[in-house]
Amino acid sequence: MLNKEIREILSECKERGWVMEPQAKEILRLSGVETTEFIWARDVQEAIRFANQIGYPVVAKVVSPEVVHKSDVGGVAVGVSGDEKLAEVYTEMGKIKGFSGIIVEEMVRGIELIVGMKLDQQFGPVVLLGVGGTAVEIYKDVALRMAPILERDVDSMLKSIKARPLLEGYRGSEPINIEALKKMLLAFSDMVMELGAEVDSIDLNPVICNASGCVVTDARMMLAK
Ligand code: ADP
Ligand code: MG
Repeated sequence: MLNKEIREILSECKERGWVMEPQAKEILRLSGVETTEFIWARDVQEAIRFANQIGYPVVAKVVSPEVVHKSDVGGVAVGVSGDEKLAEVYTEMGKIKGFSGIIVEEMVRGIELIVGMKLDQQFGPVVLLGVGGTAVEIYKDVALRMAPILERDVDSMLKSIKARPLLEGYRGSEPINIEALKKMLLAFSDMVMELGAEVDSIDLNPVICNASGCVVTDARMMLAK
């Protein structure tokens, strides 16, 4: 059974047809999928207060019901280094259509992966794991499995990824925390099964993984018609 808070978020988003990043991340968090530490700030003071709490540099991103791809409209600023810079970013993003505040969040370093779900007419929810963040379309290095996935499915997905050496530590780079990635995929699969036919697709892009763990840094969910 879906948690009451998740149900409420989904019904708030129903009319719009999709779940914006802060709400999608809230659903993930409630489902045991780790996300960045973030705030949805509705004014500049709130943004600055939170940035000081987590420490600079931070990432700032526009929240708007009219913006699905934030970087296309100048809605993503990484490495924001101080109060003044953050205030500037807030003002600039304030000009973006549908502006509804910004996300302020910790800056994460590591390897960018994609985790996703697409509801297939024939197979039901299909879970995707890919390497390369925005370049995933170029590499086409993805593994797909029907949900729910079990631990052995996660292992075989990881095995089938061509860029697997990147995850295991390639040429002196540190291996990522594979256990954290596996745990995330299993929790994601459970969440997908709970959400059922209400959600048509989910994009966690990127999920950033490093030696200490894996966190979702961007999330969006498209709701079924
Ligand atoms: P969108 O996909 O809507 O354009 P994202 O939230 O994915 O926006 O941000 C664009 C890019 O910025 C990401 O692909 C990633 O490279 C980088 N990025 C976003 N959030 C973070 C973060 N918290 N830490 C580090 N890099 C980030
Ligand atoms: Mg993204």
